[in-house]
Amino acid sequence: MQRKQFLKILAGTTGMITLGSFSKITGMMDEEDEKLPVLFVGHGSPMNGIEDNDFSRRWAQLGKTITKPKAVLCISAHWLTRGTHITAMQSPRTIHDFGGFPKELFAVQYPAPGNPALAAETAKMIKKTSVGLDHEWGLDHGTWSIVKNMYPDADIPVLQLSIDYGQPMQYHYELAKELANLRKKGVLIIGSGNMVHNLGMVAWDKMNEPGYGFDWAIEMNASFKKHITDRNHQALIDYTKMGQAALLAIPTPDHYIPLLYTLALQEDKDHVSFFNDTAMAGSLTMTSVLIGDALPLVPVETKPAQADSTSRDTA
Ligand code: ZN
Repeated sequence: MQRKQFLKILAGTTGMITLGSFSKITGMMDEEDEKLPVLFVGHGSPMNGIEDNDFSRRWAQLGKTITKPKAVLCISAHWLTRGTHITAMQSPRTIHDFGGFPKELFAVQYPAPGNPALAAETAKMIKKTSVGLDHEWGLDHGTWSIVKNMYPDADIPVLQLSIDYGQPMQYHYELAKELANLRKKGVLIIGSGNMVHNLGMVAWDKMNEPGYGFDWAIEMNASFKKHITDRNHQALIDYTKMGQAALLAIPTPDHYIPLLYTLALQEDKDHVSFFNDTAMAGSLTMTSVLIGDALPLVPVETKPAQADSTSRDTA
């Protein structure tokens, strides 16, 4: 008997149980009913990892709204390598890869386990290149600042896939497509960066005025969103052809590449929605993308920006 048939019979028998809830009970994922969404998250300042603000509240809300994943795989702007690697240790360390922040940020530990078997399975899944199993890295702030807010109990395995920084944009987009089956296996894939990210032009005096963006940053935020909504991924892959504003928004592609990993995983039926859609300090945007079934995202209560929440060396 086919599994689906069996489930239908069971559902009919009890009159109480749905396919989705049965999958949750058994821990099995139903490939059609339970495909997880994919996220691109603008992570901004590492302080978002410990501050109670609009961004971290939205991440916490997503953690409660999205079907609980079996694992999280994050492509972080802060793990740039030669070749592609995946964290394969049992207990990834919490990496404090920034400078000039308060002691309490350096004290953060996020003790989520790894999943060596999933790392090996994922490495095998990727045919485009030979993926190295990494035992040195861990969870950098591009990952833990978000996931800590989403899953504060640290009870879900978290892995990172590195960015082969010597490769062109098209390469990343194609490689990411090979991760598609993970969505059906209960893995939540998160690209973590910032679409508009020019640290050299940050208006430090405007840090406490959320929404403040230079004209070119606002223009590019709108262009990126339009192309994402129109599913014009090729234009986003070829961002260097988008004019001067794009080159100001993306002086280096480290924080932009994770977006391509997220977009590559969009399937025909997937909806697109945006959250944390705001500029910061002139030359950054926190704009984030959810791809998959629309989620009931209610407004988070607005909280005034806190003083001294500035990213200095790294964001
Ligand atoms: Zn960053």
